[in-house]
Amino acid sequence: MNDQAPQRVALVTGGSRGIGAAIARRLAGDGFAVAINYAASAAEADALADELRQAGGRALAVRADVSKPAQVRAMFEAVEAGLGRIDVLVNSAGVLQVQPLADTSDELYDQTFDINTRGTFNTLREAGARLADGGSIVNVSSTTVALNLPGYSVYIASKAAVESFTQVFAKELRGRRIRVNAVAPGPVATALFFKGKSPELIEHYAKMPPLERLGEPEDIAGIVSFLAGPDSGWVNGQILRANGGVA
Ligand code: NAP
Repeated sequence: MNDQAPQRVALVTGGSRGIGAAIARRLAGDGFAVAINYAASAAEADALADELRQAGGRALAVRADVSKPAQVRAMFEAVEAGLGRIDVLVNSAGVLQVQPLADTSDELYDQTFDINTRGTFNTLREAGARLADGGSIVNVSSTTVALNLPGYSVYIASKAAVESFTQVFAKELRGRRIRVNAVAPGPVATALFFKGKSPELIEHYAKMPPLERLGEPEDIAGIVSFLAGPDSGWVNGQILRANGGVA
């Protein structure tokens, strides 16, 4: 960290587990003070915040259901009070349940759009008012948007909206030097991916990319590190598909 400049602050939604936890670790390693958002996994989020503090960083765990605007507002206030003005927002909170469109219940539709789409909308709206000028926003979409995989229609639609937010918000923030980009992972070895899949189906997905392996959360964290940091200073409004080359 540069002693002259104040420490930059990152908020990672869904930072308690999976890809978000790897992102929180990576950004802490990059020198950020990190806020780890969670909805249910308090023990995991607290343990990760402890781990980052023990490594010499500044970190806090902050509970908020991203689908609830009042909780998102309170989360931004808690992070500002605890760590300072937010420079980087990463939207990793998300849910997936594979279900053909014709079998999708109203509840599953609502839950998917409430968390993946409204959750991202809620944090973006708050960030528009509060993020530090010169900051960076990274949304997490999914390569399924490009693949049009059967069974993923509601999930894909919820993430397609996230990609649209990314591209339009990048333009709406003109004058603030805030960049808005998205990373769209292929299959990554997390609970979200493994849930409900047989070993054979997991192997099928692992063999899909020419690189013939599943992604690891760290593969995505490295890209978020790039998109959050100065080396991507001329990258704005882009969707980066990180998927081992699956198409
Ligand atoms: P994961 O291991 O299941 O972790 C999901 C995270 O989201 C958890 O930290 C969870 O926290 C949080 N979360 C869920 N609902 C929330 C809510 N309402 N408010 C706040 N946090 C909430 O999933 P993952 O694989 O890391 O997925 C992270 C992101 O990557 C998601 O947006 C997902 O769609 C996307 N993605 C994943 C893959 C993949 O193959 N894994 C591929 C493409 C895209 P709690 O446990 O505290 O609720």
